[in-house]
Amino acid sequence: MDMGLLSFTFLGTGAPPVSLRRAGPAHLVEAAGQVILIDCGARVAHQLVEAGKPAAAIDALIVSHLHSDHLVDFYQLVISSWHQGRDRPWRVIAPEPALKAMRAQYAAFHDERNLRIAFENRPSVRGLEVVFEVLGPGPLAGFGDLSVTAFLVDHHPVEPAFGLVFACAGSRVVFSGDTRPCVALEHAASGADLLVCEVYVDSQMPIISGVRSLETVAAVKSYHMVPAEIAHLALRSGARAVALTHVVPPSADTRAVVAEIRAAGYLGPVMIGEDLATLTLPERVLSWRGLAASF
Ligand SMILES: [Zn+2]
Ligand SMILES: [Zn+2]
Repeated sequence: MDMGLLSFTFLGTGAPPVSLRRAGPAHLVEAAGQVILIDCGARVAHQLVEAGKPAAAIDALIVSHLHSDHLVDFYQLVISSWHQGRDRPWRVIAPEPALKAMRAQYAAFHDERNLRIAFENRPSVRGLEVVFEVLGPGPLAGFGDLSVTAFLVDHHPVEPAFGLVFACAGSRVVFSGDTRPCVALEHAASGADLLVCEVYVDSQMPIISGVRSLETVAAVKSYHMVPAEIAHLALRSGARAVALTHVVPPSADTRAVVAEIRAAGYLGPVMIGEDLATLTLPERVLSWRGLAASF
């Protein structure tokens, strides 16, 4: 990959709802020879294979927060990457509560892992090792010319929760993580070349008896971003382009989402992420299933 490029791939644009179209949260950032996986939601290992991105080549996994949709396939990722020939330890960076959940996943399979190691005779066991690091606000070390910075967002009561800023060769991508509108996100997104933001389409979440009540929709909506809030964020921050992910409901009518954002006053480039789509800077190209377009 060209060293001046920064690419952002949507591996999974979904959330907890099971969807055949949108896998659980997972995104891949590639720049300056670094490969960073953000979150490891359901089907992440499959999505990496389908995207042609070997898990063995990932330099670090950053998990944004504790919610299960962001880390549920952690152990599957470790095992599948080992089976693909990974020969170096995983670097896993996450807030303490998420680390606790991943450490527990890893520990739960301790005996299983030892059975595999003893029986399968693979060339290396290094790929099964994990180095856990606590994620805090501020710059992350060890990514060469790719600058990675975490910032606290507001996903209360899940604390801490982080957004991320990736900058390389003059391009800057801001990833919201899971959050409600907050000053820190607006500040981080200020002047960004690309803002990747979560979305909760409350207007397309009907009340269903026995599944979700009016109170459920109100509660979930309150710690996410609805389309009008994303429009206001984009307007205030001056982000040059907006792409949405963590799409709830996963079957949301995407044209209607864009229309809501337009109605709220944001007229810049807006894209609804689809699994396996890639956005590349600084050329501002969207590629997806053989389609390429500029944004
Ligand atoms: Zn989530
Ligand atoms: Zn969450």
